[in-house]
Amino acid sequence: MELRKDPITRSWVITGDDVPDNPPRPEPFCRFCPDSREPPQLITSMSGTPGAPWSARAVVHPNALYHIEGEATRRGDGIYDRMRPIGAHEVLVENPSHDRHLWTASDLEIEQFLLLAAQRIQDLKGDGRFKYVGLYKDHGNSAGQEFEHPASQLTATTFVPRRVLYELRAAREYFQSKERCVFCDIISQEMKQDLRVIELRGDFVAMCPYAPRVPYESWIMPRTHEAAFERFGLNRPGTMRDLGALLRRTLQRIRTITEEFHLVLHTSPNSLHRSGNLGYWKTIDEDYHWHIEIMPVLASKAKSYTFKEVYYSPLSSETAVKRLREARIEP
Ligand SMILES: [Zn+2]
Ligand SMILES: [Zn+2]
Ligand SMILES: [Zn+2]
Repeated sequence: MELRKDPITRSWVITGDDVPDNPPRPEPFCRFCPDSREPPQLITSMSGTPGAPWSARAVVHPNALYHIEGEATRRGDGIYDRMRPIGAHEVLVENPSHDRHLWTASDLEIEQFLLLAAQRIQDLKGDGRFKYVGLYKDHGNSAGQEFEHPASQLTATTFVPRRVLYELRAAREYFQSKERCVFCDIISQEMKQDLRVIELRGDFVAMCPYAPRVPYESWIMPRTHEAAFERFGLNRPGTMRDLGALLRRTLQRIRTITEEFHLVLHTSPNSLHRSGNLGYWKTIDEDYHWHIEIMPVLASKAKSYTFKEVYYSPLSSETAVKRLREARIEP
């Protein structure tokens, strides 16, 4: 596999022919359960909640897309750019129990998982080769879920993924003209209007965005400005408990509509990486603002983007938020 850059959109893709024709057969056991016969390579564990050996743990992805050894060695190919897929690819096991998900686990367990994510991101950002470390979760067959065990995935890459790059560029431009963070401005207008806010919890807000890509798209953001999730999580003890509770409650609300979703955590890129052609490092702590995006997958709406090339969401966020707010969830 190798990384290739689209010279028009300047976004990197991972491509190659070494994907097996026959998908691997499902295993008769779960490799992420504590009693696994073939446990994956352990990176770190969070200490156990009462009655459990550990609460969350990071392991090497059994079929990693990115590998940690070596240099990316960016090469030209005529007008094109390519590089080796150097990076890290980890599975963050959210819970030792096979059926305790982010919407059914205790707030303490979810807090431990979020702290693990913050620690892993901070640790990988210590490696100057990596420009970005991101966390994502795909749940449900049509969302591309990979493992049955409750898990998220983390990648460290030598490039900034396209959507984050768009956000960084736009946030920098907004900051240059207004000297304010666009995310902080969004939060303050949403709080004032109260048309799309799902719920407030501690320092966090869950809301539907003004221009949703899919019905019931939801964002969770800190109301206090901070560019880096890991710095926020590790420096402000107790906040991850509130974030965990809000994440659990938001996922419960979404699950009254669909069980399948994509979730991504967007945090600032690695400021240790001194990239010559990116000018956003100087103001990044002021202009970027970490957040979580949840994109529910509604089977009947799945084709809209492919057909029209413009995101089409046949349900406004003002309507979606009413249903999410009124959803019956556990306290
Ligand atoms: Zn399991
Ligand atoms: Zn902000
Ligand atoms: Zn984002």
